[in-house]
Formats: sequence, structure tokens, C-alpha cells
Amino acid sequence: MSEITIAIDGYSSCGKSTLAKALANHLNYIYVDSGAMYRAVTLHLMNTGLLKDGHFIHQQVIDELSRVDIRFQYNKEQGKSETYLNGENVEKDIRTLEISRQVSAISAIKEVRDKLVSIQQEMGAQGGVVMDGRDIGTVVFPNAEVKLFMVAGKTIRAKRRYMELKEKGENLTLEEVKKSIARRDNLDMNREISPLQKAQDAVEIDNTELDEKEQFELALKIINEKVRSLQTTNT
Ligand code: C5P
Repeated sequence: MSEITIAIDGYSSCGKSTLAKALANHLNYIYVDSGAMYRAVTLHLMNTGLLKDGHFIHQQVIDELSRVDIRFQYNKEQGKSETYLNGENVEKDIRTLEISRQVSAISAIKEVRDKLVSIQQEMGAQGGVVMDGRDIGTVVFPNAEVKLFMVAGKTIRAKRRYMELKEKGENLTLEEVKKSIARRDNLDMNREISPLQKAQDAVEIDNTELDEKEQFELALKIINEKVRSLQTTNT
């Protein structure tokens, strides 16, 4: 069977990218972090002064999009792919709290989504891709062979994110982290265009009680079963 497309969607801080990276490594597929692309656009708008304290002028953002070039490049030493914005490595800069706070307003803009979705579709056109995000199974690859939808309890998600932020030296309380995750989910689920939702044919993975290895094994089992059933249908 030729290489398939694996779409992973879900709420913020549910471990989507950890799972997507592990699957892509194991299957020797390309991994695409679609959230990094929305973060990079947000960073560009902040750097150019077009996005300030959550405020922007819609038409200015649209006009600026032609000056945004986003690519991924594999870093051999790190063993992972990194995000480049107009030729500059921005992998670290796009992971700040400030970007997390602003990104949902920018990702709600139709023209931003149109641009990024078409790049994502090009990247996955040949199959052999694991892509994670919010609309991968619903909009970017509605025909993906495997669709996973990740969920986890609110407290465990906040705790995982809190630990990550602490390691980066960010001083937020657990309660603040919880609130910020809830705020972002709320914006992503309630926007007009391509809101975060589970595709009808997605398989839900609740990793509240699972560690990374257990989550990986469960996902792989789901993928193998799906591939087997597709092979049976095709013969
Ligand atoms: O996955 P990550 O948390 O890095 O995504 C950052 C933000 O980008 C999300 O909160 C959402 O607003 C946006 N996003 C999106 N569609 C995607 C991926 C991310 O709207 N496919």
C-alpha cells in the first residue's frame, strides 16, 4: 500500500505534536506542525508592528500575507524539523506565551487560513505525512486515511503545559495556565471558519491516563487496523 495521510487534531496541550512526531519517525513519514505556521504568521505581524496587544487592522494583515514565507527545515543535530520565517529560524520565537496569547485571533482570519491550508495541502499531496492541528481531518485532508482526535482532562493538560513553561523559565501559576488553555480552546472552537471540531470519521484518543509510549502504541494499533481494513477493501 502506498504511503497514507495521518491527520491529528485536538485541543491545545493534548500532546498532538509529541504523538505526531513519534509516528512520523516510526513510519519514516514527513511531520508537519501546522500550528507552527499560524504561530509564524503571528510572529511576523508582531515584528512588523501590524499586531499590537491583540489589535490589528484586517486589511493590513491581508496585504502583508504576500510577504510571509514559511518553510520547515530538518535539523539533523536536533533530529527534528524547524520553522523558518522569511529565511530565519524562528522555532524558539514562535513558542512564547505572547504568541500563544495572540495566535487564535490571527488564525481566525479567512485569508490567513486560505494561504496556510493551501501550503499544507501541497506538503501532503504525495501522502506519507503526519500533520497535526485543528482542522486537518476536517478541512486540510478530509480524505485522510487515518484521522485521530486527541483529548485529555483539563487538569492534566494544564499540568503538562505548566511543567513545559516552567522549564522555559515562564512564571505562571497552574490556574493561569488552565485559564489560558481554556481561552485558546474557546476561541479555536468558536471561530466562524474551520473551527476546531472532531471529524465524523476520526478516532478519539483520550490520553488523560496514558503516558507517551502507551499513547503511541494505541495510535499505531489504530493506524495498522485502518491500513489492514483498507487493504481488504481494495482486494
Ligand atoms: O498547535 P498549536 O498550539 O501550536 O497551534 C497554535 C494555534 O494555531 C492554535 O491555537 C490555533 O489558533 C491555530 N491553529 C489553527 N489550525 C491549525 C493549527 C493551529 O487554527 N490547523
